[in-house]
Amino acid sequence: MKAAAALKSFRNIRENPTSYLKDINKPIIGYFDTYIPEEIIMAAGMHPARISPDDRQITAANSKVHGFACSVSRNFLDQLMRENIPHLKGVVFSRYCDSLRGISDVWEENAAGSFYHFLRYPTVVRKDSIEFLSGEFRDFADHLSKRFDVIISEKLLIDKINVVNRKRFLLLKFYDMVKKGKLIINSADFISIVSLATIMDSLEYMEKLNLIIDGYKSVSDRSLRDRTKLSISSIMIESLPFFRLIDKANMRIVTDDLMYGSRAAKVIVEKSEKGPYYALSKRYLNKIPCSTKADSDLRISELIKDCKEADVKGVLFYLVTFCDSEEAEFSIIAKTLQENKIPVLLMEGGYRLDSEGQFMTRLQAFNEQIGDRL
Ligand code: SF4
Repeated sequence: MKAAAALKSFRNIRENPTSYLKDINKPIIGYFDTYIPEEIIMAAGMHPARISPDDRQITAANSKVHGFACSVSRNFLDQLMRENIPHLKGVVFSRYCDSLRGISDVWEENAAGSFYHFLRYPTVVRKDSIEFLSGEFRDFADHLSKRFDVIISEKLLIDKINVVNRKRFLLLKFYDMVKKGKLIINSADFISIVSLATIMDSLEYMEKLNLIIDGYKSVSDRSLRDRTKLSISSIMIESLPFFRLIDKANMRIVTDDLMYGSRAAKVIVEKSEKGPYYALSKRYLNKIPCSTKADSDLRISELIKDCKEADVKGVLFYLVTFCDSEEAEFSIIAKTLQENKIPVLLMEGGYRLDSEGQFMTRLQAFNEQIGDRL
């Protein structure tokens, strides 16, 4: 398979991840946020799948949750209730945000005997937090072992840690090529490739991404070269129609600050003499934080660094309505971007594109405002 075929395959899978998961031939453990250690699920011989929002209207979940939950988390519950994910054997939650905490409680009551696990992340990171979280990770592994009658040896876990490390390295190489203008693709393709890293089988993903990286000349679309380059910052927006709109507005996403994107790819697991659980715990506590976790300094400095490396003209900040932590963090991010002379456009909405016309007008106006800046 060559680069063009690999890109086409990514597009097809992104269009219909459910159909891809149907053929995966392994029991699936689903999760929402990238604080869940996919390495442990892989070591249990199962497939870790981040359940990304689909574009369907929320139906079943509306009877279970009230206004406390944002639409992204309600879509997550809706997919669970619709049994949208084939071969799903269970779901693991973490202490991520209040909306998901509520969804987790509802799902625990409605999971009808399927595997359910809640990872108690420490709310404050102190010296002993790494030990605490590594104990939580061990409990998670024990729970999987007992429930599915599998043995998770440390050797197997180290093997899977190495696989995921390699995947993160490769994805960072991809980011680098796009940032530096070596690989030129549209926003919808960019986000498809990035988001599938936590949905697809890791080995298959790396095989396809390697083909694109090696054959970058054949998939680069030089006609997109002069489009206004942007970064996107958010917890979560994954809807392809949204990214196609950015492309239609003559702009191009070349770097991101997304929960499932660069924040999940950066920081690898480093070997520790205290064993793989400790090493994993250290990595997950030190990853680039979401607004629901640590303070924003590291997130913002990484965002600015990427913006400068990619020479973007501006940042789109996508705020999910009712996401309090992002709302609070936006003012700090906007202020720091302004201090660095990087314009920012705030857009607010749900898990899918609902007001195309209004968004298009704002994107075009933003492009006019920043497009000619040096
Ligand atoms: S968008 Fe915000 S409120 Fe909604 S699930 Fe994500 S972190 Fe929680």
